[in-house]
Amino acid sequence: MEELYRQIPKVDKFLKDKDLIEILDGQPAFFLKKAVNQVLGELRSQIGKGEVKEVNYEELKLRVKRVLKELLRPRLHRVINATGVVLHTNLGRAPIGNKVAENLVSVITGYSNLEYDLEEGRRGLRYRNLEWILKELTGAEDVCVVNNNAGAVLLVLSALSKGKEVIVSRGELIEIGGSFRIPDVMAQSGAILREVGTTNKTHTWDYESAINENTGLLLKVHTSNYKVLGFTHSVSTKELVELGRKYGIPVYEDLGSGSFIDVRKLGLSYEPTVQEVLKAGVDVVSFSGDKLLGGAQAGIILGKREFIEKIKKHPLNRALRVDKMTLSVLEAALRYYLDEKLALKEIPVWRFLSQSKEDIFNKARELVRELKLKGFRGKVRIVEDEAEVGGGALPLQTLSTYCVAVEVDGLSPQEIDRRMRRCQVPVVGRIKDNIYLVDMLTVFEKEIPEIAANFLKILEEE
Ligand SMILES: *Cc1c(COP(=O)(O)O)cnc(C)c1O
Repeated sequence: MEELYRQIPKVDKFLKDKDLIEILDGQPAFFLKKAVNQVLGELRSQIGKGEVKEVNYEELKLRVKRVLKELLRPRLHRVINATGVVLHTNLGRAPIGNKVAENLVSVITGYSNLEYDLEEGRRGLRYRNLEWILKELTGAEDVCVVNNNAGAVLLVLSALSKGKEVIVSRGELIEIGGSFRIPDVMAQSGAILREVGTTNKTHTWDYESAINENTGLLLKVHTSNYKVLGFTHSVSTKELVELGRKYGIPVYEDLGSGSFIDVRKLGLSYEPTVQEVLKAGVDVVSFSGDKLLGGAQAGIILGKREFIEKIKKHPLNRALRVDKMTLSVLEAALRYYLDEKLALKEIPVWRFLSQSKEDIFNKARELVRELKLKGFRGKVRIVEDEAEVGGGALPLQTLSTYCVAVEVDGLSPQEIDRRMRRCQVPVVGRIKDNIYLVDMLTVFEKEIPEIAANFLKILEEE
């Protein structure tokens, strides 16, 4: 054993190894040292347990290479979404299109006109490059953009109704992921929550009888992740706007996902569009930038100049400011909505939602073909299933999809899942009825060979 310990190569030998330095590719030597220490640590403990017969540098080098490659990959990295959930918050919500990404890279790898007016040669306004497109698309008088829609709700309530009562239906006191709850946000903003109606029914006269001289706002919240079904009634945006006008109280709608496209055209159930809500006359509307919009994380606030001015001037606005990456992605993505057909094609979220069943089936067939071509020994077949929109949009809507079901002798679906998640480009699929499924609805065509390669790789582990 003493002899084996003596044979352990010096750390320096690895650090000077040309092959390893090549893999390091200019990244800090920290990663190579860490990989070497890990492998040598394992070796020492193996020697201690009597599991090692001889110490071989080349064999150790292979192990170092494997660990090094893993350490060199940034911890935040791409994964393949094979869950069928189009807006998966845990998987980064909306992917962005290539052209939008190319423009982003060009904006952030150099300097930009973020806050510089090139006509005048002096300081410009940060949001001006985005404002025009939002006004063009919606007809809104003014625009404010913040870090996310949760921030937008907090900002709007703080700016318009601090110390005043905000009337909201009991059926709309939502909680969404990440413990965002309307009553808590309301308390944080300094507004006073005035709940009206019941869980299942709220009428216009419920709001009306709650109005008093301290009422600051009428709030409507989109019930994004649930639906109240059966014996129900809620007050429409239009009715709320009429009531607001009658008493001179502003109306604010938190639209949640906020779509620019009428999803009924894709055969999905009704969701109000941003344009529609503004047309109905709300004073302020807010929604996310990375849900159905398909852009970057942001909270977009649109509405009447008088109110947006107040919102913009509030100190929280500066604290919730968005950066050039967000602005670049939003502007580039929003431009496509000037032509709906282009938006459906170029914005990945809409491309996935508007795929035909045949498109999805073809992707499934392609994956099966790749697997057969590569001699994959598992059992593979195409099954029909249901996927979902996710991200707090269309909670009850299912999307019909095709999945590739994969079974391997001697591997449980949980084990297949675990191994697929640990690949260099991880795949997150789902398990249904104890079978591992790759849902093709959310898979990009270019990812199909990568998924197939992963399936082959996970069988080498045995
Ligand atoms: C998603 C959602 C939010 C929060 O939006 P983020 O952009 O995730 O901060 C707020 N309100 C509703 C109704 C939502 O659906």
